[in-house]
Amino acid sequence: MQMNVSQLLKAPIGSTRNHEVSGTIDISGDDAGSEVYGEVELLRTNRGILVKGTLHTEVQATCSRCLSLFGCPLSLNIEEEYFPVIDVVSGVSLSLPEEPGYFTIDEYHVLDLTEAIRQYALLAKPMKPLCREDCAGLCPSCGHNLNQGPCSCSTQETDSRWSELSKLALANHVNKLEGNR
Ligand SMILES: [Zn+2]
Ligand SMILES: [Zn+2]
Repeated sequence: MQMNVSQLLKAPIGSTRNHEVSGTIDISGDDAGSEVYGEVELLRTNRGILVKGTLHTEVQATCSRCLSLFGCPLSLNIEEEYFPVIDVVSGVSLSLPEEPGYFTIDEYHVLDLTEAIRQYALLAKPMKPLCREDCAGLCPSCGHNLNQGPCSCSTQETDSRWSELSKLALANHVNKLEGNR
């Protein structure tokens, strides 16, 4: 995810360059890595280089309903300004912004997208991931994964029927009370 941007740093402010991103990044730190692909536009600003674009990747996630592990696709809308640590022409050290959390272009004029992509991916990962929109989840009594078909427990169905009945009874009761008023 590294690119040499010395040419763009020498170009006038407002110059752009497109860069195709394709590679593997270790996003969560515990798997073999996630494929990342897409295209970014690099824009020369007065302070450095603004990177903008949409990248696609997939991270391993645990479904919050059925607890199965699945590949969760993510779209990352990257927009980050990178600041060079030295002047590309004179080689003089440049002062960096006051605010923390910025990214830098190193003394060899290499801009590395890895850390930004990792951070964007961690933010984009859903809090309650679902392996699919209509995941059926696990049976509350036997723990069977209901995506693989129904289990032999029938309690759940009976329970819901009873609760429908009691809701109806309650509604009737309330209606009667209101009618008496
Ligand atoms: Zn699921
Ligand atoms: Zn069951």
